[in-house]
Amino acid sequence: MTRLGWGSATDTGKVRQANEDAVLTTDGLFAVADGMGGHQAGEVASHLALDALAAAFDSPGTEVLVAAVEHANAAVVERSATDPGLAGMGTTLCAMALVDTGDREAIAVVNVGDSRLYLLSDGVLHQITEDHSLVATLQRQGRITAAEAAVHPQRNILTRALGIDGTVLIDSWEMVPVVGDRYLLCSDGLFNEVDESRIAAALRRIADPTEASLELIRLANEAAGRDNISCVIVDVLDDTGSGPTPMGDSRITSHSAPSDPDLGAGAMSATSGVRTASGSSGEPLAARNGMAQVPSALSSTLTWRVLLFVGSLLVLGAFVFGFVWWTGTHTYYVGVDGSQVVIYQGKPGGLLWIDPKVAETTELQLADVPAASRPAVSLGVEEPTLSAARTYVRNLLDQREQQTAPTTSTNPATSTNPATSRNPTTSIAPATSTSLG
Ligand code: MG
Repeated sequence: MTRLGWGSATDTGKVRQANEDAVLTTDGLFAVADGMGGHQAGEVASHLALDALAAAFDSPGTEVLVAAVEHANAAVVERSATDPGLAGMGTTLCAMALVDTGDREAIAVVNVGDSRLYLLSDGVLHQITEDHSLVATLQRQGRITAAEAAVHPQRNILTRALGIDGTVLIDSWEMVPVVGDRYLLCSDGLFNEVDESRIAAALRRIADPTEASLELIRLANEAAGRDNISCVIVDVLDDTGSGPTPMGDSRITSHSAPSDPDLGAGAMSATSGVRTASGSSGEPLAARNGMAQVPSALSSTLTWRVLLFVGSLLVLGAFVFGFVWWTGTHTYYVGVDGSQVVIYQGKPGGLLWIDPKVAETTELQLADVPAASRPAVSLGVEEPTLSAARTYVRNLLDQREQQTAPTTSTNPATSTNPATSRNPTTSIAPATSTSLG
């Protein structure tokens, strides 16, 4: 038997004249409503909706909860139509309830509008509900960023609300109650003022749900308090009634989301699209295991980050491969194949998987190479191009001919010596030509 503990708080904020939010906390049913409409009509709408919701939720079932939201919508529509002073009023409604699915208990969640349900599980905050607002739609379409949405001049425009039309699209979820989980229902006056990391920190820090609610409102007012602020915190307790002791993670077992109506009045007149966990039509509603599917914004962010990371690795890998291949195949050195001096393509000793190969043979034997240059040639004298390697070999040939010439009219010290004037890469070759004589 699941036990719940809860606390709540609501506040007018620092700018508004009246509080048009309403909260509901009964034994097993919890809700937040954010009303809209001039001359306190919003206040009427939010309270009327929650009264109707509570009255219609007469047995603990998910379908009963969804039907209760439809009942609340009808109540607001009817009142709006019959009282000219309240025409055009509407309200958001976000609610959760402990229900019996027949074989187990579950936490049923319903949402219309841009009030939110968050879940703090294992210390991590997840947004469970999706906002039905203009900026949320633009964000889901990738047309604006979260940062742009937070300051968008039309961020208060809703795409769904209770009281606008006789039918209403309702998102619903079923979640497994897990001891230690903490739920937060709140109006936009909270999350538009306080970022989610600070909300999570307060929920982790303060065990008492009422005190935590008051702290969240204090933070929103400290930021600016431009809107009404409402919080309902619900803790899933163990059998002894102890407070949250995080263990395990929560699971959404079903999610019913009518196809997104996107923007405009057409959205409001769409037929009610409530589906059960078994699914009736449209979007499949097979049981969803794991939190991975809960915070859709989080999972999409992770996906993009992973793709970006993998893409960067591929580009880096391709660059490294290309660099090694180019270096291993576009450099030359003068070395020895057996006793023959040859020109190799590649690096002395090879480079990773690229072995050097003989590009050209020469008429020189290692024994014909001047003694001063012999060690360098044995190890391999690198040259940037094939032409430079040929020049180096020609210089070696010139020196051999000078050594074998019978006359000594040429001063060896002024001759072209590969070991001194050409070889830029080896340090083992003697720096003078004194051994030539
Ligand atoms: Mg608000």
